[in-house]
Amino acid sequence: MIARAWMVPAALVTSVMAGQADAQDPIRTLLITGENNHNWRYTSRYHKDTLEATGRFTVDITDAPAETLAAPGKAASYQLFVIDFNGNKRWGDAAESGFLKAVEGGAGVVIIHAANNAFGWPRPKDASGDQPWVEYEKMVGLLWREGTGHGSFHNFDVKVVDKEHPITRGLPDLAKHPDELYHKLVNMHNSPYHLLAEAYSNTESGGSGKSEPMALTLAYGKGRIFHTPLGHVWEGSDDQKASIADPQFKVLLSRGAEWAATGEVTLGTSWEEHGAHNTLSPDEKAAGWKLLFDGAAAQFRGFKKDKLPDGWRAANGMLMLVPGLGAGDIVTVDQYQDFEFACNWKVAPGGNSGIMYRCTEDKTYPWETGPEMQILDNAGHQDGKKKQTSAGALYDLLPCQYDVARPAGEWNHAMIRVKGTRIEHWLNGFKVVECDLASDEYKKAHAASKWVKMPDFATRAKGFIALQDHGDEVFFRDIKVRELK
Ligand code: ZN
Repeated sequence: MIARAWMVPAALVTSVMAGQADAQDPIRTLLITGENNHNWRYTSRYHKDTLEATGRFTVDITDAPAETLAAPGKAASYQLFVIDFNGNKRWGDAAESGFLKAVEGGAGVVIIHAANNAFGWPRPKDASGDQPWVEYEKMVGLLWREGTGHGSFHNFDVKVVDKEHPITRGLPDLAKHPDELYHKLVNMHNSPYHLLAEAYSNTESGGSGKSEPMALTLAYGKGRIFHTPLGHVWEGSDDQKASIADPQFKVLLSRGAEWAATGEVTLGTSWEEHGAHNTLSPDEKAAGWKLLFDGAAAQFRGFKKDKLPDGWRAANGMLMLVPGLGAGDIVTVDQYQDFEFACNWKVAPGGNSGIMYRCTEDKTYPWETGPEMQILDNAGHQDGKKKQTSAGALYDLLPCQYDVARPAGEWNHAMIRVKGTRIEHWLNGFKVVECDLASDEYKKAHAASKWVKMPDFATRAKGFIALQDHGDEVFFRDIKVRELK
């Protein structure tokens, strides 16, 4: 049975046959990204989580659409394309025709924010540059082209103008949505479009003084297109991550995506996540993963203690630290040498914690022997200003490579891979730290750090995996480990 996102509002229950929704297979979705002047590493993985949290979609991501879509039959295997891509370089005949054919044949398309800038802006001055992709421009309808702009990032209301369309039926206006407000988008090829929602672009924030389209639909052959210019996140800005984290945006995006793929909307009008947690799929079991937390019991104990301290508690399927009880750090029951450890974590505003590994109990604290993958609310903590100490970093040694950490209150996917002297930190789908403890790069970083005075740091071949009590509220779930042979 497929986990469903939002319950259908009571008033609409009669319009949905009992059991029908549960019988639906998830919509096979390809999210297209890998190039964008925006923070695509952040947004693409976040949109995937948004869609999958509804239980209605299963989302593959390509960071190399020109290659992926050129594979014979690939485009035709998807019911929906979500485009979080803004590049000018054309994908090539095979990829482009595969994609267009799939859409003409009925696959849905979702256009998000700067995807309406792609393939034609700026216009090439001569035939030597990449020529605009006219079919893509027709599909998108309203494009960022000559004369388009936006004012400052600010909060604004998005007004539903069509209350009968499946996407917006019963949907309240978006109140004080934080975003960039595109104005004067250009309909290059006079594509007929249908307006669902608009926002007033005020001149005080640098806007056009007019109402601008914020959600629209179009047709391309048998394909349905849902287009929203919302969803701006710039690299290096934690504040702007609020645009796509806004539950109102998530509802609009998910409903638009479901409609584009199926022509109907069964998802509700308020945001609620579904899905199983603290479980292993058959594939994960076959790959050797073991759960360290089943939602109730944790395979952890206090550092140098024989049981889990009182301040670490299981609640609502999460292992959480209650601050102020002096709980202290906890360690796995077993020790690990070469392994992969994965978990999802979130912190309260300003929160700080960490995952340490290959820790031993012959020193006063786990961090005296074990390297740490930082857990942090980057925006709300001093450490977030430095890449060496921000979320995902090899704490105080090597920086987190990409701006992919999520704001306080949002779940982050963490994975640590350790084999011999090689370590990797993965955060929200990207390898953000890669290092060989035997390398000159590491030795240099080590020599410049406070760890240089700790001769036992990161020298153990085997040890416990520890979760840190830094005095702040922190939550974990889906904690699992597998040994590497
Ligand atoms: Zn933008």
